[in-house]
Amino acid sequence: MVRAAYYDLLTNIPNRTLLMDKLTTFLSTTYDTEKYASLLFLDIDNFKKVNETFGHNIGDHLLKQVAKKIENIIGEHEIFARVSGDKFVILIPSLPEEKQQAEALTLQYIHSINTQFNTPLIIAGESYHVTFSIGVVLFNHEHSYFDLLKSAETAMYEAKKNTRGSSQFYDSSMSVLTKEVLTIENDIHKAIQNNEFFIHYQPQIDVHNNKIVGAEALVRWDHPIKGSIAPSKFIPIAEESGIIIKLEEFIFNAVFQDIKALFESSKAKDLKHIAVNVSTAHFLQPSFVDKVMLLMQKYKLQPEWIEFEITESGLMRNIDDAIKKIKDLKNFGFTFSIDDFGTGYSSLSYLKELPVDTIKIDQSFILNMNNNKGDAMIVESVVSIGQKFDLKIVAEGVETIEALDYLKAMKCDTYQGYLGYKPMTLKDFSSIL
Ligand code: C2E
Ligand code: CA
Ligand code: CA
Repeated sequence: MVRAAYYDLLTNIPNRTLLMDKLTTFLSTTYDTEKYASLLFLDIDNFKKVNETFGHNIGDHLLKQVAKKIENIIGEHEIFARVSGDKFVILIPSLPEEKQQAEALTLQYIHSINTQFNTPLIIAGESYHVTFSIGVVLFNHEHSYFDLLKSAETAMYEAKKNTRGSSQFYDSSMSVLTKEVLTIENDIHKAIQNNEFFIHYQPQIDVHNNKIVGAEALVRWDHPIKGSIAPSKFIPIAEESGIIIKLEEFIFNAVFQDIKALFESSKAKDLKHIAVNVSTAHFLQPSFVDKVMLLMQKYKLQPEWIEFEITESGLMRNIDDAIKKIKDLKNFGFTFSIDDFGTGYSSLSYLKELPVDTIKIDQSFILNMNNNKGDAMIVESVVSIGQKFDLKIVAEGVETIEALDYLKAMKCDTYQGYLGYKPMTLKDFSSIL
């Protein structure tokens, strides 16, 4: 046997190939299928940061020490391997037949690993505190090597969502979502580079005189294989994974460039502004205001041309920070709108604190208001609250004449919806102005 093919050169422990070999042998021969076994998938928290901050040399030393420490606590029947980068796998082969007991023993095992790392590692005189996110699959009966590894890895990504040093048992409801999250997240990275995102504009129309007074910028993804992917499919995933910030930087650049072209053409005379969606994670970044100001300089824009749309539930997450940022940006001349109004829960009490200009009534109420009394009442109340607070009101999701007539009667200002126009390219939008 050529050792290098089966052992990891850096840490000297089994590599992925040997792990597969040993696990397959275990599953097909020595495994007592009446008993439970556990597969643990360990990932070092923030390892990327160690590499970036202290260099790969320190990173390598850290991996070596981690491997050595774990090796010392591994029993002779257990399997331990490094599967890639900062990812390790441990198999605990023989646990009780009773599930609760097997689970308890696995947890005890994890606890003993974590305890080993309570004392920091010392590398080149510096101390490093290592924690792991650990995914666990507890199994009995038949299983394939591949499925087990995949499940343990999936659980590890679930554990990552919690605080550092968490562990998580796999359950079957996890698989689809996490796999989808992972591929979409990867795809978004690539798609930004490959220019697969572009922007559509949906006109906002004055309810009383039918003039186009603005538009909302809405992102579109044209995937080379999957075709067009709806934002409702990828925005929530992008938000969950944090990649929304990169994506929105791309969107801001694209939209701001379009805005410049629009407002400098003769067609923009009735246009008040273009509405741009901002996700909460992005808005709450400390650098958000500076970033926007830099872009304004870059594209030579006037702040009055932009209205930011923020969701109500997002604002509530950190209301003080949100209020401060809105005030700062409003001082420069930007305006703000609360998106999906009515779907959050603390609308009223916060409305008086929030220095916004516009509320957008959520389309779920507008779509049904002509045949649902409750929805109609909500729309009426929102319009009257908005008027009392001196806010502009945009109704979205207007699909029928009846809905528009109703809004007219309520003296709502602006609407957006398929009755007027669907979202369209910049070229089409400027041609209808
Ligand atoms: P939203 O901000 O509430 O955007 C309005 C959505 O309603 C858009 O869907 C629009 O096409 C759709 N819509 C407009 N009129 C009608 C109508 O009459 N009937 C119906 N049934 N629907 C109508 P879209 O473009 O699929 O966007 C979905 C959501 O994705 C948006 O909801 C927003 O939350 C998010 N999104 C889109 N673009 C961006 C973006 O650039 N950044 C961020 N953070 N989120 C975005
Ligand atoms: Ca919106
Ligand atoms: Ca909305």
